[in-house]
Amino acid sequence: MWLLQATLSKDSTQQAGKIDARRRRYILFFVSYITSSVMFFYGFKNFYAEQVLLPAILFGTAAAFLINISYFRWSGNLNLACNIEALLVGCFVLSLVYQGGFNNTALYWVFPFPAILFGLLGVKKALFSNGLLLIVLALMLFVPELIMAEYKEAEASRFIASLLIVIIVCWINDHYRERSHEAMELLQQSKEIQANTDPLTLLLNRRFIDSSLNFSLQQQADALLPMAVIICDIDHFKQLNDQYGHAAGDAVLRHLASLFRNNLRQQDIACRIGGEEFLFFLPKTPVDAALQVAEKIRHALLDNPLQLEQLALPVSASFGVASCINSDSLAAAIEHADKQLYQAKNSGRNRVC
Ligand code: GH3
Ligand code: MG
Ligand code: MG
Repeated sequence: MWLLQATLSKDSTQQAGKIDARRRRYILFFVSYITSSVMFFYGFKNFYAEQVLLPAILFGTAAAFLINISYFRWSGNLNLACNIEALLVGCFVLSLVYQGGFNNTALYWVFPFPAILFGLLGVKKALFSNGLLLIVLALMLFVPELIMAEYKEAEASRFIASLLIVIIVCWINDHYRERSHEAMELLQQSKEIQANTDPLTLLLNRRFIDSSLNFSLQQQADALLPMAVIICDIDHFKQLNDQYGHAAGDAVLRHLASLFRNNLRQQDIACRIGGEEFLFFLPKTPVDAALQVAEKIRHALLDNPLQLEQLALPVSASFGVASCINSDSLAAAIEHADKQLYQAKNSGRNRVC
């Protein structure tokens, strides 16, 4: 089961990671290109005003955004580019509020940035940096001697209160967006596990071999090969069903599944591929060791008949063993194991070939 879970969780985590990286990249692009265009526009508009600081802030930040996005395009380092962008955003907000903007309109421009920080940094880091930004802004507004701009007293408290509301709403929104993504990922994983599991024995099913196992063989050939393949078929199971009933047959199948689990290693894979047929895959196992494992399982079945009330239901099984030595030969190995099973059946059953 470990291999299935590892493959599935890796698969869906990779998928979710890719989508999240795309979201952050779009925010980075938007802030870098659109916001810097707006900054250039207002920078030129204020170019001939008496203040030199305002166009300097606007041009400086816009240029830094463009340098950062060029760095990202060159390096592909999304995390670092987002962190630098967030730092630039913080510096821009603080310097604009310090200077006051055109006709003291700086405070209006602060409101988009909490959401941008959440988009760039993720919930925890964004909450911390927004909190820090809010504290520094409050200090600047409530101690007016610290800054160049002159805001009205009533403006300061209303601005801080409304900014706090924006930050809290962004936080709740992003927190639950992350939680719902995690829940969807788990749901997806449990559905995949269900689809790959046989409901009667809770062993893996044939779908697992066709999808996950083949995929894993391509991805982690070194960790799995040489992989032994053992096919196991219960002897005269039809007779057992006819004699004791289908429900007893089902109970025997569940009992056998638990014997298989107990006699295989944690990294081995047990699948039910048909009514009373099973396939075991033993990673990193040469054929002679696999023959011993098959013998061990054969004995375990003989020594542990299912006890149904007063009745012991004895079963034996025949086994075919083969080896998969390269990642493209799984189907051939299964076919070979099947031939060996046929031989075991033909030479009298209850044996390993
Ligand atoms: P052999 O030794 O040649 O393998 O004989 P066999 O009777 O085991 O093989 P055969 O293919 O003739 O019959 C398989 C039987 O397995 C037929 C069916 O009644 C039984 N079977 C298949 N699936 C289930 C199941 O889910 N539950 C139960 N109880 N029996 C099943
Ligand atoms: Mg059969
Ligand atoms: Mg059979």
